[in-house]
Amino acid sequence: MKFNPADNIQDLQFFGEFGGVNPSISDSSTYTFLSAKTMFDTFEGNVEGCYLYSRHSSPSNLYLDQAMAAMEGTESANVSASGMGAITPTLLQLCGSGDHIVSSRTIYGGTYAFLKNFAPRLGIQTSFVDITNLERVAAAITPNTKVLYCETVSNPLLEVADIASLSKLAKKHNLKLVVDNTFSPLSVTPAKLGADIVIHSLTKYINGSSDTVGGVTCASKEFIADLKNVNSGASMLLGPTMDSMRSASVMKNLRTLHLRIKQHSYNAAYLAARFEKDGLKTVYPGLASHPSHALYASMINPEYGFGGMLTIDVGSLAKANALMERMQSCNLGYLAVSLGFYKTLFSAPGTSTSSEIPLEEQVQMGLTDSLIRFSIGLDNDIERTYQMMRTCMVELSIL
Ligand SMILES: *Cc1c(COP(=O)(O)O)cnc(C)c1O
Repeated sequence: MKFNPADNIQDLQFFGEFGGVNPSISDSSTYTFLSAKTMFDTFEGNVEGCYLYSRHSSPSNLYLDQAMAAMEGTESANVSASGMGAITPTLLQLCGSGDHIVSSRTIYGGTYAFLKNFAPRLGIQTSFVDITNLERVAAAITPNTKVLYCETVSNPLLEVADIASLSKLAKKHNLKLVVDNTFSPLSVTPAKLGADIVIHSLTKYINGSSDTVGGVTCASKEFIADLKNVNSGASMLLGPTMDSMRSASVMKNLRTLHLRIKQHSYNAAYLAARFEKDGLKTVYPGLASHPSHALYASMINPEYGFGGMLTIDVGSLAKANALMERMQSCNLGYLAVSLGFYKTLFSAPGTSTSSEIPLEEQVQMGLTDSLIRFSIGLDNDIERTYQMMRTCMVELSIL
């Protein structure tokens, strides 16, 4: 049977303590042991199914861990209090002083800032490369390189990483391929294409209601055990633990992810096609004009589509700002960072989420300040939305 991430999630059945249709929420930071011997064994990591302390794991977090591992097709997973709370411990578990990372240059601004400004304080250096240029990626690998890092679909330029080819390269040089799949849950399953570790910011599509931050690292049992190791695990020792109340609520939202992703993809594909036909410079991986369209089409689980993110370039920052303000006042969406909400969200990444990236590097990678990034919402009638957006654009002489 073909791997289907949503079916894998659906097949998980968790009952509550009293037969509830939702699993009970664990409301304890610590756990009793029937014998002192079991406590000792648990701290040594030898007892399956015993909880020792909720910074390590809690029953509610383990449900969500299991669902995330099922979705990504990995052996195990570990949820965290935010996406950055998954990314930084993962990289610190893999790298120490003297080690080197090769990273895509178009990544989430916070990840970029961590690798560029913070990791060097710990003796970890990063080379940023154009991830779509495999020769450049290979050329950046040194004897000290431990990790190849990228996003499946990059933020904000929507470049597509060729995960299967990157995985071959990583294996050849004995590197771990770490893929941030935040923009493309269900659509792409990086572990099936050879990624060693898959990360999500749960804050975005997976939770989908813009009411919390959260993250997850999906990987082998061995790596997740390393992350949680009482004596040497970066997640255990740095403490980015998700609260049980939150993991329970993320779990409930996860149950509708497949429906939401299909609608986000449908709406974004519709708008991208119309904007492009109107003559706007539009970037969407589902458009034939996207440089990686064929590659991406070969990577996705087709029923979930090409995702809900698109960008348009409206020519100037002034026009971009005017359009976003106009669309917000017409209730077409919110001028806000983040993504994966029921409502369309838009922002100009050059002056917001990617402002950590120095201006000259922004120019190099083609990130202009007149670029608007859209996370397209779950609008019921997308033709109606398009007509209203078009009116805003005509009024502002963008069309
Ligand atoms: C938002 C985001 C992150 C960071 O996640 P937080 O939950 O905000 O910590 C990482 N990667 C990508 C691609 C993101 O969009």
